[in-house]
Amino acid sequence: MGYEVVVDKEKCEGCEECIEVCPVDVYEMVDGKSDPVNAEECLGCESCIEVCEHEAITITEV
Ligand code: SF4
Ligand code: SF4
Repeated sequence: MGYEVVVDKEKCEGCEECIEVCPVDVYEMVDGKSDPVNAEECLGCESCIEVCEHEAITITEV
């Protein structure tokens, strides 16, 4: 069991809030957008969803 983490690059404004809040460093900045490069580490806490003002992040249990 894990989580699929998706960032909508059209909505992401690169504010880096998700990077700062994620306790397991799922995100890295790639070309000015947040990229969930370590999605397999996701705990499903949804902290990143709460801080993203642009509703760019989707977390799905898989
Ligand atoms: S919090 Fe949202 S808008 Fe900001 S970098 Fe992360 S995904 Fe992009
Ligand atoms: S749900 Fe929590 S652990 Fe998963 S990417 Fe968002 S902040 Fe990180």
